[in-house]
Amino acid sequence: MPRPSLRNEKRHVLKAPSGRIVIHYEKEKRNRDKCALCKSELRGVYHGFGSMSKTSRIVKRAYGGYLCHKCLQKIIEERVISQLRL
Ligand SMILES: [Zn+2]
Repeated sequence: MPRPSLRNEKRHVLKAPSGRIVIHYEKEKRNRDKCALCKSELRGVYHGFGSMSKTSRIVKRAYGGYLCHKCLQKIIEERVISQLRL
């Protein structure tokens, strides 16, 4: 019985050069991170499996890793304009 973390992964049964039968487990690919508003793919966001620090995984700005640059620009412009009206 494979360990619990491997039970959902795809299996490949291979025959090693020594004649031994080996099971290889395939890691599932992660979906790309998307913008919370327009659902477009975020740029500059780490997509791999290895562990990295948070600052090297995402873009260093307000809402980095959550909103795309276009949506953030729209929000900032709307807030500035609404402040000017008051
Ligand atoms: Zn967006």
